[in-house]
Amino acid sequence: MNPRPLPTSVAVIGGGLTGLTAAIRLAGLDIEVELFEAAPALGGRTRSFFEPTMQQQCDNGPHLLIGAYAATQALLREAGADQYLHWQPSLCLPLWDARRGHFHFQPSSKLPFAPAMLLAAAAMPGHGLSSAIAMLRLAAALQRSSAPQAEHVAGWLKELRIPGQLVSDMLEPLCLGAMNEGIDTACPLSFKRVLKESFAGRKQARLGWFTAPLQTAMIEPLARHAEKLGVQIHTGHRVRQLEEAAGKVIVDDRSFDKAVVALPPFAADRLRNRRTTHETRAITNIHLWLHQAITMPAPLVGCIDGTGQWYFDVSQQWGNATPGKHICAVISADAGHRESHELIELCLHELSLLCGSQPQLKHSRIISERRATTLVRPDHAVQADVTKNIIDACERPAPGQLPATIESAVRRGEIAANCCLATPHYQRYPL
Ligand SMILES: Cc1cc2nc3c(=O)[nH]c(=O)nc-3n(C[C@H](O)[C@H](O)[C@H](O)COP(=O)(O)OP(=O)(O)OC[C@H]3O[C@@H](n4cnc5c(N)ncnc54)[C@H](O)[C@@H]3O)c2cc1C
Repeated sequence: MNPRPLPTSVAVIGGGLTGLTAAIRLAGLDIEVELFEAAPALGGRTRSFFEPTMQQQCDNGPHLLIGAYAATQALLREAGADQYLHWQPSLCLPLWDARRGHFHFQPSSKLPFAPAMLLAAAAMPGHGLSSAIAMLRLAAALQRSSAPQAEHVAGWLKELRIPGQLVSDMLEPLCLGAMNEGIDTACPLSFKRVLKESFAGRKQARLGWFTAPLQTAMIEPLARHAEKLGVQIHTGHRVRQLEEAAGKVIVDDRSFDKAVVALPPFAADRLRNRRTTHETRAITNIHLWLHQAITMPAPLVGCIDGTGQWYFDVSQQWGNATPGKHICAVISADAGHRESHELIELCLHELSLLCGSQPQLKHSRIISERRATTLVRPDHAVQADVTKNIIDACERPAPGQLPATIESAVRRGEIAANCCLATPHYQRYPL
């Protein structure tokens, strides 16, 4: 028997992925759920907007998924949105640099997965046997339960004697992409977890992307699913009051049994009148619309030592459903040193080398999300502001936890929903 009754009403504050997930999970148990979102539309950091010059939807930034995003896949399937996900049949990481041109990290699907990975590393130009042996050492390190002793990823890779070429071609870009932080400062324990989950097997080790804008592919289906389950959604409502009183939670003069705080940490700290100390990093997206349909060799290309670290062929990813060519260059952990016109010129030049033809620019838009992700830091473990009835679902990754991603947002939403209940109902994907 359930020792405590279910709460009858829960306020979810924040309408990004974390809040939407928590709301869906709670409403699925017949709990009255109201979701408050400050912006006019849901989505938070996974949002789309209408680009007037091009008369089409555009995402703040393209989002990449990996096969290990189990909680996200389950949620999207449930909301009937998995039709908008494209998965590579098996891992293929297209890479490019000015010296070697195009090459791939592509484990053969005809071989067992582990040897296929080693051979794929050896087959990259400039690699060979030393990279294959290093992959073996890395794989063995991922199997060990002991935590890396090094302070940062760079130190850990050095301890494992991973050759510089393998670091700069694969591990550094993966670290930047997954952790939004360079190897010199990123947490090795969390990076180890990312690698372990990402390369656990053939199914996990593949990339996925959305075939439509984030709003269509993810946020609208999740919002419809939430409303179908009875969630009352209030957009354009910035919550300004959150406190516990007489066993209830007061949210802007309304009383609830519990509240889930699903905000970026700085916004949560502001709401609770706390000083925020979370370290964040920017991601800059350089959206380029071109006159002619130049051909990128793959829907996504990693550009080693490039200004744009990843080039997303958005048109190709969306099935060329919109007129013209839309390419987005992504800079993770962007320090923001360069002017917009300089960024556009550098990316157009890189694109001309990458595609072998001169792109003709029609329109551009740079979106720099200053607080794109909260970095993995040790003090986050103790910073969550949890009381009996106010549940903190904010992005505060601690060492060993997954970095800030779509998947960790969904997992936090589910964990927060479980925390509202006496007996957890949802499978707990660990953070
Ligand atoms: C440019 C960019 C690229 C990214 N790329 C990837 C990627 O490729 N793969 C990946 O897995 N992840 C990626 N991420 C990370 C991912 O988008 C985030 O980790 C995730 O969306 C965070 O969701 P959230 O719900 O926790 O927070 P948010 O999406 O920030 O949602 C919080 C919501 O709270 C609202 N809010 C704030 N204050 C209040 C208030 N007082 N009252 C009510 N509402 C309030 C905000 O408006 C917002 O909608 C990327 C992020 C960015 C910015």
